Amino acid sequence: MALPRAAEVVIVGAGALGCSIAYQLTRRGMRDVVVVEREAIGSGSTSKAAGGIRVQFGLKVEVEFSLRGIAFFKRFDDEMGVPCDFRQEGYLFLVTDEADLARFRRNVALQTSLGADVRIIAPDDARAMVPGLRTDDVIAAVWGPMDGYASPNDVVQAYASRARAGGAKIVEGTPVTGLARTGDRVTGVLTPEGPIEARVVVNAAGPQAPLVGRMAGVEVPVDPRRRHIFVTGQFDGVRHPMPLVTDRGSGFYCRSEQGAVLMSAGDIGGTTEYTASVDWGMLEPTVRKAVRRLPALEHAEIHHAWAGLRPLTPDDHGILDWAPGVEGLFLAAGFCGHGFQHSFAAGEEVADLLTTGKSGTDISDLSLARFAKKAS
Ligand SMILES: Cc1cc2nc3c(=O)[nH]c(=O)nc-3n(C[C@H](O)[C@H](O)[C@H](O)COP(=O)(O)OP(=O)(O)OC[C@H]3O[C@@H](n4cnc5c(N)ncnc54)[C@H](O)[C@@H]3O)c2cc1C
Repeated sequence: MALPRAAEVVIVGAGALGCSIAYQLTRRGMRDVVVVEREAIGSGSTSKAAGGIRVQFGLKVEVEFSLRGIAFFKRFDDEMGVPCDFRQEGYLFLVTDEADLARFRRNVALQTSLGADVRIIAPDDARAMVPGLRTDDVIAAVWGPMDGYASPNDVVQAYASRARAGGAKIVEGTPVTGLARTGDRVTGVLTPEGPIEARVVVNAAGPQAPLVGRMAGVEVPVDPRRRHIFVTGQFDGVRHPMPLVTDRGSGFYCRSEQGAVLMSAGDIGGTTEYTASVDWGMLEPTVRKAVRRLPALEHAEIHHAWAGLRPLTPDDHGILDWAPGVEGLFLAAGFCGHGFQHSFAAGEEVADLLTTGKSGTDISDLSLARFAKKAS
């Protein structure tokens, strides 16, 4: 496709966030939208996500984003015309620490006040849900029956195809190499195929958002952190479907994946620059944490693995805000380990802001300014 020379809005990055924003803009009647993607739709963090969807968050705006996401994934087939394999098999957090439990109690009160179904249950009830679970050190579990998972790749491809059907153009294989400016205003993007003028540029470049921000002299506090997923072969040593079980003490989590078990050790090591290849040295600590919690997993064989970069902010919350000091540049980035599940609601909010000047929900907790406030 020939590169468009101008657009109302140019979005940098065709991940879950960029494609959701494009889809939502076209739903609001804006057809003059171009998404520029250096690789392929969904090829960044989105296709590496475990697909998890949960209401257990500590900010009101995040719980609301989750509830709207769950409602969307439930009606996905009707709205998007394709399936996304949404399964509400629940999330089960295993808590081993009193301070952590106090935090969960506060968050559960917030979540239930907003209409979510989340319950604090006894370790024995957790074991009844997941036979074979070791709970000797568990003081309580938190059960979210509304939670589950869906296919990130199916979702991002559906956003993209509905955005295209609504008039948006998505250009793949084209990196944004610079941002054009006139004075304090961004006027478009630069690419090896030429420039695209735009009234608004959205930085939705995932873990690369800081690199795109720097093109306009804006610091975006996002660090990439590699996370591994290991998937067993078909395994009947656990009862399927098994909810997503998170061991809060070790960071390990696992869930059923069509008769197999998908698992991750959580975070090991620090931020990792931009390396997203599989380090097989991560298998040993993953299996150790797995067997500690679910001894039956000792008999499972690993079938395949992948790794991806989570775009982390210092406080583990995303950023939806105008860039300071640079008119026309919007930041939709840093959605950490929940950017897939929050992409639907985040896309709605950004599209509302860009078309009406106002977001539908109070998103001030996701502002960039919060970092400056905390630092001062
Ligand atoms: C192992 C793992 C498990 C995860 N599990 C979950 C989960 O269970 N649930 C959940 O909700 N989230 C999960 N996440 C987090 C989730 O993947 C991210 O938060 C989300 O995908 C971020 O979406 P995004 O659109 O911001 O970024 P991305 O999907 O990375 O999209 C950004 C795009 O921008 C492109 N880009 C970058 N620079 C440029 C440039 N200069 N020019 C043009 N294009 C550019 C990239 O190629 C990329 O396609 C997980 C992440 C990992 C790694």
